[in-house]
Amino acid sequence: MAVESKELNERLQSLHRANELKLKAIPYMNRKEKIPTGFLLKDEYLQSRDRILTTFKATLEDWENWHWQMKNRITDLQILQELLPLTEQAAQDILEVGRTYRWAISPYYLSLMDSSNPWDPIRLQGLPRIEELLDLTGEEDPMGEAFTNPAPCITRRYPDRLIINVTNLCAMYCRHCQRRRNIGETDSHETRAQLQAALDYIRANPEIRDVLITGGDALMLSDLTLHWLLEELHSIPHVEIKRIGTRVPVTLPMRITDELCSILAQYPPIYINTQFNHPKEVTAEAKKAADKLISAGVVLGNQAVLLKNINDTPDIMIRLNQELLKIRVRPYYIFHAKHVKGTHHFIPKIENGLDIMEKLRGFTSGLAIPTYIINAPGGKGKTPILPQYLLSLDDEEATLRTWEGNIIHYPNY
Ligand SMILES: *Cc1c(COP(=O)(O)O)cnc(C)c1O
Ligand code: SF4
Repeated sequence: MAVESKELNERLQSLHRANELKLKAIPYMNRKEKIPTGFLLKDEYLQSRDRILTTFKATLEDWENWHWQMKNRITDLQILQELLPLTEQAAQDILEVGRTYRWAISPYYLSLMDSSNPWDPIRLQGLPRIEELLDLTGEEDPMGEAFTNPAPCITRRYPDRLIINVTNLCAMYCRHCQRRRNIGETDSHETRAQLQAALDYIRANPEIRDVLITGGDALMLSDLTLHWLLEELHSIPHVEIKRIGTRVPVTLPMRITDELCSILAQYPPIYINTQFNHPKEVTAEAKKAADKLISAGVVLGNQAVLLKNINDTPDIMIRLNQELLKIRVRPYYIFHAKHVKGTHHFIPKIENGLDIMEKLRGFTSGLAIPTYIINAPGGKGKTPILPQYLLSLDDEEATLRTWEGNIIHYPNY
């Protein structure tokens, strides 16, 4: 009898707690419906795609061909205006900014833009705004990349891993790009001789166990060059893992071809980190690209950049990270935007980032929670920042704050 009433009491308490948790979930569930995702906007995408194809007099087959997409990147105001209605002022501004900073948008990424909303997060990432020219305070090279360059195309800031910059080409020139300095006026891949020198450096330094191929966008390399580079890296016994940094799953998913995947599959383990910044970018096309990469044995992660008016609210970040998990892309980092000249209008307050981290932890899957990072200036490295959960710590106890704000005394002996 006593046992039964204890069980009953426990069940009642559990139900009460479950109800409390349900009430915590409901407000976001209601707000979530208003946050657009690539999947929800599928019909709009198909319409835009067909409209762009008609304008270019091209076929669906062209659309699926990444070379066609690259050849037809929109870099000309007149063509842009045919595809996306712009105010006279917006058009003037694009022309003006274009004289200082180049712009290029893949037809695919353009098709995700909302033609009726100048604050559309896709437009903000792809279309130049006059603010780029009004920012006179930022630095060209806040990361001091020029000083962490021990060999051609190599950036080394950490004990056991490094970056090879293989190209300055990208499918689109993101307006918030943190590497603007390198994304010059002309597209160029590093030469074989330069890459060879980078490989020589890696071969000569046995502590390097993790090599990150990036740019620009590493998947702008031809299959041939990429194949050669991966094969070379694979042949270095101390290189345990290879990583590729690329935004093509977001801006040019057709780059993920069967041929590319058959190359990647030959050189495991390969980790690819990409940069989805908004749930609208998580489309059926992006999923197809992710599925193919995963079938090739690649492990996928996401490095979002926290951008003002694009993704600087908890709701959008929760939705982004949940959408990414659905397509098997694991949120890895959220970067606080560095102060690169021409990007000041994208930089949120650090408090925004902290608030987002606070609203993720506990409220949603741990898998949906990336690490929030500030890149220390001068190439001093990625520095994690997070809300304070450890309030004090001494020999006797730790004082902790839980995700719900309960204060806990936890023994430390
Ligand atoms: C970001 C970065 C890496 C990789 O850092 P992880 O924290 O291991 O992802 C490596 N080298 C350089 C120079 C970097 O900027
Ligand atoms: S893909 Fe990356 S490197 Fe290229 S423009 Fe965008 S943010 Fe910059």
